[in-house]
Amino acid sequence: MVSVLHTALELRAACDEVRAAGGRVGLVPTMGSLHAGHLALVEHAARSASAVVVTIFVNPTQFGPNEDFEKYPRTLERDVAASAEAGATFVFAPAVVEMYPPGERTRVSVSGLTEHLCGRSRPGHFEGVTTIVTKLLAATGPCVAVFGRKDYQQLKVVERMVRDLLLPVEIAGHPTVREADGVALSSRNQYLSSEDRARARAIPEALRRAVEGFAAGERAASVLRSQAERHITSAGLHVDYVTLADPDSIEPFAEGDLVGERALLAVAVHAGSTRLIDNVVLGEDPAPGAEP
Ligand code: AMP
Repeated sequence: MVSVLHTALELRAACDEVRAAGGRVGLVPTMGSLHAGHLALVEHAARSASAVVVTIFVNPTQFGPNEDFEKYPRTLERDVAASAEAGATFVFAPAVVEMYPPGERTRVSVSGLTEHLCGRSRPGHFEGVTTIVTKLLAATGPCVAVFGRKDYQQLKVVERMVRDLLLPVEIAGHPTVREADGVALSSRNQYLSSEDRARARAIPEALRRAVEGFAAGERAASVLRSQAERHITSAGLHVDYVTLADPDSIEPFAEGDLVGERALLAVAVHAGSTRLIDNVVLGEDPAPGAEP
């Protein structure tokens, strides 16, 4: 049975109890509307920890003024059942005033890593993410926290923040979970019309072609990047960015660069009014749709 907690004090007490008994806490921060990608993170955490906390909080500070905060799907009852099934011990589902108490004045930000890709397209987004993740980690205490590589830049930003703030937390990354046709699972996929859902297949296909080109020896940043962009555009998707970047610094390669042993190919597109992101680390990740 999973217990649903609503306050930071309850969460801290539950986690203290786990640690006092010699156990390890696993944390999976989410915005809810859980799908198989989230549940794979819960299973990952359950293998690394004796008790798993799934947090469900649609964090207002990481949404821009014209984004989908209001209409973001909220399905707490279903999420609690799915979390329990996947091995969670606790669900932490706070109200907005619990995480942002009246009069709050504090934000956490990470420079550099947040400048490009989603940081450029969504000003303030990462500051919202790092602020809420810091609060969740503070309330949880020492733990292993699992994040998806689907949000690769977010994973790198959180890893950096945890090191910089000396937080007593281990960050684990989990591979992107995909539909059978390669499209990455996302809570936002349910917004897609059937035509846009079909167009979205071009995203993993473009990533797959880049993995194959890279494996065949292609190292020209401009070729890897522009081929992916062309494939996505020709499917009728509107490109926000298709960027080839250093996978550690998240610094984009210049058009004339040759990439090294690893390169992040990160994509954000608009399909209708829905924004979708995906990525692959060339030289590190398997081709989307070709997982063993
Ligand atoms: P979200 O609820 O979208 O904020 O995501 C919560 C966590 O689940 C983040 O660490 C995401 O990277 C991760 N996640 C979301 N979708 C996927 C996916 N398809 N595969 C793996 N992890 C995912």
